[in-house]
Amino acid sequence: MIILMRLGASPEEIQTVCEVIRSHGVEPLELPGEDRVAVGIPASLSTDQRTNLEAALGSLDFVSKVTQTSRPYKLASREFHPSTSSVVVKNTTIGAGDFVVMGGPCSVESYEQFSTAAKIVKESGATILRGGAFKPRTSPYAFQGLAEEGLKIMQQVGQETGLITISEVMSGDMAPLVAQYVDILQIGARSMQNFPLLIEAGKTMKPVFLKRGPSASIDEFLLAAEYVLNQGNPNVILCERGVMPIDKGYTRNTLDLSAVPVLKQFSHLPVIVDPSHGTGVARYVAPMAKAAMVVGADGLMVEMHPDPRKALSDGSQSLTPEQFSTLMGELRSLAPYVGVKMA
Ligand code: PEP
Ligand code: MN
Repeated sequence: MIILMRLGASPEEIQTVCEVIRSHGVEPLELPGEDRVAVGIPASLSTDQRTNLEAALGSLDFVSKVTQTSRPYKLASREFHPSTSSVVVKNTTIGAGDFVVMGGPCSVESYEQFSTAAKIVKESGATILRGGAFKPRTSPYAFQGLAEEGLKIMQQVGQETGLITISEVMSGDMAPLVAQYVDILQIGARSMQNFPLLIEAGKTMKPVFLKRGPSASIDEFLLAAEYVLNQGNPNVILCERGVMPIDKGYTRNTLDLSAVPVLKQFSHLPVIVDPSHGTGVARYVAPMAKAAMVVGADGLMVEMHPDPRKALSDGSQSLTPEQFSTLMGELRSLAPYVGVKMA
């Protein structure tokens, strides 16, 4: 429910509305707007609560309109937050017209491998360095990541290059540890509905990069974001990384690029596209990356390895350093036509 105040409503009148809402057992949320304030109720209301509140609020003459929200998510919704959000991490703004690229290997494998990758990321003008230390692998026999050692390498390389770092956290109890070492916490696609993890990641107050689950609907995706936002952490970045494919033999996932304009319409949060996991095939990464820019994404997450043939995970979808630099150049040429800025 959103209560739109009359133009010029006083702070006391806004407080009266908040008190009426509290007296019905729910917490209000003030939503400052361009010309007037609205008050939102993020909770799900029972039919009785809704009817009683509508009657109580509708009778106040400084209330202009009481509307029902049409979506199950609230804090992630554009209805609650009409202006577009951006997430500021150090010297980089994600969202709001800047197209950001997060590049790096699937896994941190060694200091040498990771610092080589970081130099290429930096030279090509990308600002965010990705790398997995805790890896969600389908097989327990596959490389599981260097764990805390990998995070230490990441932190060191981040400091040496000045790049912003992002790495995955797989469980709620590990959130404070990962937050100690990196700038952005990634929640992987397989963990999108790990609700205790979403809560703990939210509590760290670090930016949270939330990947869409392989079979998650838009509502499920935004409700997962809602868990993080509900911890008082506004710094959520959404990532479309492909959904379950029909044609298993051709692509690893089906990159749902239509999710980008949909998410932009119904949510105010920044949206990043991951064409690497979205396709699973290095040669499809660049075309889908450029398409992502055209459909309005705020940036990309792209896997790049100094020597993809030797990668311990996701080598077949990882770009070589040359392919990565070429892609960055192509994106930079495309940016003015799409109306976005690139660092
Ligand atoms: C990754 O980013 O390396 C990863 C495992 O991604 P996803 O969770 O999208 O599969
Ligand atoms: Mn990967």
